[in-house]
Amino acid sequence: MNFKIALIKGDGIGPEVVGEAVKVLEAVGKKFGHRFTFVDVLLGGCATDAVGKSYPDGTAEKCNACDAVLLGAVGGPKWGSDKPAEQRPETALLAIRKDLGLYANLRPAFLRPALAGACPLKQETAEKGIDLMMVRELTGGIYFGKRDRYQTEDRGVECTDLMAYSEREIERIGRRAFELARLRRKKVSSVDKANVLETSRLWRSVMRRLSEEYPDVQYEDILVDNCAMQLVRDPGQFDVVVTENMFGDILSDEASMVTGSIGLLPSASVGDSAPGLYEPIHGSAPDIAGQDKANPIATILSVAMMFRYSFHLSDEADAIEAAVDRVLGEGWRTPDIAGPGVAPIGTRQMGDLICQAI
Ligand code: NAD
Repeated sequence: MNFKIALIKGDGIGPEVVGEAVKVLEAVGKKFGHRFTFVDVLLGGCATDAVGKSYPDGTAEKCNACDAVLLGAVGGPKWGSDKPAEQRPETALLAIRKDLGLYANLRPAFLRPALAGACPLKQETAEKGIDLMMVRELTGGIYFGKRDRYQTEDRGVECTDLMAYSEREIERIGRRAFELARLRRKKVSSVDKANVLETSRLWRSVMRRLSEEYPDVQYEDILVDNCAMQLVRDPGQFDVVVTENMFGDILSDEASMVTGSIGLLPSASVGDSAPGLYEPIHGSAPDIAGQDKANPIATILSVAMMFRYSFHLSDEADAIEAAVDRVLGEGWRTPDIAGPGVAPIGTRQMGDLICQAI
């Protein structure tokens, strides 16, 4: 098959990790008989430097003309919060998700067997295994609500951020979660704060109604504070965890940390029809950029998700994941996961070894 992939290399270590992921795509293409056309798309701090804004005109159109989008990472101290919004890399990230209609963010948190020692939890907790999928609503809620800042007479400056959700927004992310659960261990945990927030009470009622349509999937509601606790107490209890935008932002970082390194975890952002966007969960790591020290595995596993969720080719996805496990099982480590007494390898060598294993 032929696929057209938009490459947003971005800033910092972005170009390095995307470079290794492209090598892996070529290796998979060779093994399974696929061909790829790559379209470079400028976005982030590098776009601000080149054309004066982080989200150049026509970006969404370029991506929409492709079958999938692979993003490295964007941002860095050079384009900080003192810059106008249109020059900040984060503005571009929010804009592309919204413009491509990517309302569901899927983040697996999986403790790779070869790295069980990197899990910061108690050994008996790690031994039970961690394999959950965090499904975060991505284009609604407080991050996209109306915000305001005004001077009051007696209380100084006051600000508001509005959290809004519609039944339709909740239902479509809920369906994603239930459908995914059917492909996994058939359990959905829906996270909310229904004891306090009106949006959460709507969230809970829609999720409960949906759960009746999926009688084969075990369903539970869980309050966000309890979920945060359970993720470190007993993460093995979770299969699919679905939640709104801000809770998901925080919980998905927590879930990823319990599995070890930030350099290992992929993500997918998908909508109903637009190309999915695949990216590592980490940022642009300016502290190690350009030094051949970045772990490319999160980006390489994002390519595995691309095969699974955009191209519906699970053998190819399995081949990438098995290659990563094999290389880690042989003891190869980049500096972030090397640990004491282990001589680390560089970004490029890690990419080469994974390609060979494929
Ligand atoms: P970060 O994820 O870039 O780095 C945090 C720490 O993890 C650093 O010590 C870094 O060296 C390390 N690290 C990250 N990825 C690694 C990898 N693949 N291999 C080895 N080590 C890795 O987070 P940060 O320092 O908070 O943010 C740096 C910049 O990235 C900021 O400008 C931030 O806004 C941006 N950012 C972008 C995204 C994105 O593009 N989606 C996400 C998060 C942060």
